[in-house]
Amino acid sequence: MSQRFRKDPMENQVAPQLETMNLAQVRASRPHVALVPFGATEPHNLHLPYGTDTFQVINIAQRLADEAQTKGAKIVVLPAIPYGTETNLAGFPLAINLQPSTLTTIIRDLAVSLAASGIRKIVLLNGHGGNDFKPVLRELYGQLDAHLFLINWYQVIADVYCEIFDEADDHAGEMETSLALACFPEWIARAADGQLAADDGRKQPCQFEAVNRGWVQLSRPWHLLTTNSGAGNPHRATAEKGHKLLDLLVQRLAPFLVELSASRIDHQFPYQATHSPGASTPGD
Ligand SMILES: [Zn+2]
Repeated sequence: MSQRFRKDPMENQVAPQLETMNLAQVRASRPHVALVPFGATEPHNLHLPYGTDTFQVINIAQRLADEAQTKGAKIVVLPAIPYGTETNLAGFPLAINLQPSTLTTIIRDLAVSLAASGIRKIVLLNGHGGNDFKPVLRELYGQLDAHLFLINWYQVIADVYCEIFDEADDHAGEMETSLALACFPEWIARAADGQLAADDGRKQPCQFEAVNRGWVQLSRPWHLLTTNSGAGNPHRATAEKGHKLLDLLVQRLAPFLVELSASRIDHQFPYQATHSPGASTPGD
């Protein structure tokens, strides 16, 4: 499946995708880093497919890995997990849910398998806002012969979001639609006049002002919050904005993968070595 959503399957210099490799290739590749994409299966307004998060995260993972690989990193991209936590979208049909506890078990099992094959640097690339993996990292800390890192890709561009997009996006809005236009435009539904077959993604305000202001949180029942599951206006999305976003993600994250691949796991990993006694310091 992933192969169909890679940026260019014919391109020569690409990081290995495990699901397209054979045993001889796996034995020869000896990767240092595993990149594990996490998507979701859920509705995205009326215009984007249920696989949107998965297709996006596969595309981002491959671009990051390709760029890092060309800069010398040794990475393998694992098959994406196509399901995430969807309890709050249960009011819509076929939003397929994995409980946080199930995802914790999946991440633990993946990490154990990878560590058994000698891969001790594991990057979880999450593309679904309903997944909250930081508690998983805390729970598994110290239990694995591997180091887990987490990237929620949509948080990486938060500081420049307004420079690319016109309106705040919660779900299936301008950002996600722009990314879809850049990565899989053929699966975006349009009305007869060529406009997106989507509503305007308006959200129903909560009766409690403190919730609307973000001071108080809850797990939002999406069928009450939205009309067709879209939260955020998608109608100003463009493929160009999507490409800007992709370029920025690669620019910001590929160097990390290169550094991670080259790093040595010692007793201070991932922190810098302290100066040994007698070594010169910048103040000397
Ligand atoms: Zn999404």
